[in-house]
Amino acid sequence: MKILVVNAGSSSLKYQLFDMDSGDVLAKGLCERIGIDGCITHKRPGKENYKSNEPLKDHKAAIELVLKLLCDSELGVISEVSEIGAVGHRFAHGGEMLRKSSILGEKELMYLESIVEINPLHGPPAISGFKACQSVMPDVKHVGVFDTSYYSTMDETAYIYPIPYELYEKYKIRRYGFHGTSHRFVCAKAMDILGKSDAKVITCHLGNGSSITASIGGKAVDTSMGFTPQEGVPMGTRSGSIDPTVVTYIMKKEGLSPEETEKLLNSKSGLLGVSGVSSDCRDVLEAQNDGNKRSRLAMNILVHYIKKIIGSYVAEMNGLDALVFTAGIGENDGVVREMICNDLSYLGIEIDKDVNLNAKRGEQVEITKQGARVRTFAIPTNEEYMIALDTYELVK
Ligand code: ADP
Repeated sequence: MKILVVNAGSSSLKYQLFDMDSGDVLAKGLCERIGIDGCITHKRPGKENYKSNEPLKDHKAAIELVLKLLCDSELGVISEVSEIGAVGHRFAHGGEMLRKSSILGEKELMYLESIVEINPLHGPPAISGFKACQSVMPDVKHVGVFDTSYYSTMDETAYIYPIPYELYEKYKIRRYGFHGTSHRFVCAKAMDILGKSDAKVITCHLGNGSSITASIGGKAVDTSMGFTPQEGVPMGTRSGSIDPTVVTYIMKKEGLSPEETEKLLNSKSGLLGVSGVSSDCRDVLEAQNDGNKRSRLAMNILVHYIKKIIGSYVAEMNGLDALVFTAGIGENDGVVREMICNDLSYLGIEIDKDVNLNAKRGEQVEITKQGARVRTFAIPTNEEYMIALDTYELVK
């Protein structure tokens, strides 16, 4: 069966077409500048990429173009749309109701629309991407895969915030967690290697957005992101966790509205805010190496927060079998992995520095030092494959 995976953003739409019999990606690509002017990049493994500027007035125009290219006699990989057996859609938020990947019908759509208020950035474009796909492919099943659903196993002690309980009841303010599809994928990979069904695993998804998750036996017990992806470790442009009073103090002192304050904490903080150089870890590391003090400080703060969370999760789980790094920084940056793993030998985490620094980018590699109690890995994430797999399991 062939499964199309769609990830719709406000002005973009990413797609991958999987052949589930072989597990191969037949084609993938990205529509950008939707609603502005329009551009598509279409890739087929082993063949030259196709890129063109095409007017894309909305998500429907984008998915129509994607299907046209997939079926094109020269650029395509299938002969007709009916070869697509199902479509898997990435949703950042499934709220409290959508606790696992689900076939999307009226009830699910109504629920997703009802929680847009707590998911204002990702919700509307994902819903409009889904509606567009449904309108041009009405005869196949559409499956929603939710980043939050991996966290449905967390105990309420981990997800209820210590604020008046009525606010949870009234507004559903609680920890939801994000990046769950990525954490689920790399945790399962680590569990396969360990061969231990009750393994205690900490997964560090470190990219432009970063989160850390603790899992026992492949079930999440805690995670660093919260009600929104703003909580947890500092990120490219997000502050991560700070004293909440700092927020109200900044608002009063700078005369900022709630929206302006959210923007400051979401888009102007983190690595960018402290370094003043860039939100991209590579740029900040380069500036640090050139002697830029604030860049060094930004990197040190990032590492400091990550270490604290790793330590707290070892305490929470009363042990640790494996530590996993994934996403842009986690998969590729041996320097950052080493900074994080330094001086964690008390917890049993020790890495082989040569193996770590020489690890091939984007490849699965074990970086454990011989004799260390905890095994440490860099594992490339593959959220799209996980979405395709869930979709396949639900419809086959
Ligand atoms: P997103 O959260 O947007 O999906 P990514 O997972 O692609 O982001 O991660 C982006 C981050 O990964 C950036 O900070 C970038 O510096 C870092 N990164 C990407 N590739 C490399 C690399 N080869 N070496 C070091 N850092 C990298």
